[in-house]
Amino acid sequence: MSLNKEIAKRRTFAIIAHPDAGKTTLTEKLLLFGGAIQTAGAVKSNKIDTATKSDWMEIEKQRGISVATSVMGFEYKDIKINLLDTPGHQDFAEDTYRTLTAVDSVIMVIDCVKGVEIQTEKLMEVCRMRNTPVICFINKLDREGRDPYELLDEVEEKLNIQVRPLSWPIGMGKAFKGVYNLYDRKLNLFSPSQRKLSDDRAVFDDLSEDRLDELIGRNNADQLREDVELIEGVYPDFDTKEYLEGKVAPVFFGSAVNNFGVNEMLDTFIRIAPAPKSRNTEDREVLPSESKFSGFVFKIHANMDPNHRNRIAFLRICSGKFERNKPYNHVRGPKPLRFSNVTQFMAQDREMVDEAFPGDIIGLYDTGNLKIGDTLTDGENMTFKGIPSFSPEIFKEVINKDAMKTKQMEKGLKQLMEEGVAQLFTFDMGSRKVIGTVGQLQFEVIQFRLKQEYNASVEFAPMQLYKACWISSSDKKKLDEFVQSKNRHIARDKDGKLVFMAESRSWLQMVQDNYPEIEFHFTSEF
Ligand code: GDP
Repeated sequence: MSLNKEIAKRRTFAIIAHPDAGKTTLTEKLLLFGGAIQTAGAVKSNKIDTATKSDWMEIEKQRGISVATSVMGFEYKDIKINLLDTPGHQDFAEDTYRTLTAVDSVIMVIDCVKGVEIQTEKLMEVCRMRNTPVICFINKLDREGRDPYELLDEVEEKLNIQVRPLSWPIGMGKAFKGVYNLYDRKLNLFSPSQRKLSDDRAVFDDLSEDRLDELIGRNNADQLREDVELIEGVYPDFDTKEYLEGKVAPVFFGSAVNNFGVNEMLDTFIRIAPAPKSRNTEDREVLPSESKFSGFVFKIHANMDPNHRNRIAFLRICSGKFERNKPYNHVRGPKPLRFSNVTQFMAQDREMVDEAFPGDIIGLYDTGNLKIGDTLTDGENMTFKGIPSFSPEIFKEVINKDAMKTKQMEKGLKQLMEEGVAQLFTFDMGSRKVIGTVGQLQFEVIQFRLKQEYNASVEFAPMQLYKACWISSSDKKKLDEFVQSKNRHIARDKDGKLVFMAESRSWLQMVQDNYPEIEFHFTSEF
């Protein structure tokens, strides 16, 4: 098959949601439709069992299991779907953000009882950075939830995106009758015990037909007619182009656990969701159809067994064809790399592959050469943009407890930071090292792994810090002056970029007011 055909048949996306909204359940239904699994209950939630929340070894083990489900590939109606899983535990939010850089679109699940929740808002901000197209699935309609209009307004307001319902619920909770597909004008009636993936659909060219009253009852029929008229009146026609630009989110209603409304969404998804898109490097735009291979690493998973130091690097292919055993240019590194152990993830299995195409995610066995953000190419020296670091929320100073093992500690810290476990900031003054994370858990992980894998002992001293702000200015002199005058608060990130370590929100505000020519950024890419 030609490269263009391979590209055209791929859809690479992630499902994102606040924990408990139904991400795992929806994933499972999609895999069922794709024939990738046969029974419900086969997909393991990557959610961390609350009973083990404080035991990170247990958590890492659970995360280890989730490597297998990191990417789920399956085919549906001749489309190869690559579904990337995102960690459920909020301490691993950065993992999720990085995963979002490797997809072309997302499906966002929202619980109709709880509405838009905090994690959903944060994830949406990340999607907006790259104008990632979003489809919304409003879930759990079999429960008494909020009014659909109210939910749509909330999505628009809190997620700051226009919405366009493409399906509409008939009733809710106990009175939930089904969904009407506004796109195809098809009605799908609800029967909660429905196990099979039924294709029965009542088609109405005209909702005024009496048949509708017979099917769902007079009141429901009238309500539906009224709703549809209102929606068609209020919302402009759905425009695929606007969706692809990340301006409009089509919305579907349903109940994932009852397998309801999922098919409507999936069929629309394969029709409108983008095939692998072009990606920007620092110098130019790379089209997927370019004949030469290129890709970038967005995630690294370490083997928790200290006897096996190997790691799996997850690579998103951006252009050309990847071939096993072919030497590729490791743009940041000293020498070309060749991979003999390459896996793709199909549903619950991993399989060895010899070649892969744009949009595909492959796992490369690596002994420590690769780090997050690395670019591999078939020759050209270029680096893909777009894997930002976000300001951490918790900061602690690293205290070396064994001066004889300083080298080991530094090596270990470097490796762990390359895996994206946390971020390291080094103060200009006194070279104090500060680790920033989004969750408490990572400190335990770092301490344990430094001991176990590098024989280094560290402790952490709490620090009163509010944010790490990357700073820049169009006026280099002003920037130098700022760095001079605030040198006690200036640090460098892993790439040597300048960071201002703000102690409190109010103080940061004051500094920002006093230095209008300095720009303060909460992510490393601006
Ligand atoms: P995740 O944390 O987003 O992966 O959420 P899960 O898929 O694990 O679902 C969380 C809970 O919501 C589970 O108990 C599911 O059975 C339940 N759930 C998922 N979909 C539905 C639905 O459509 N209706 C109802 N009533 N419960 C659902």
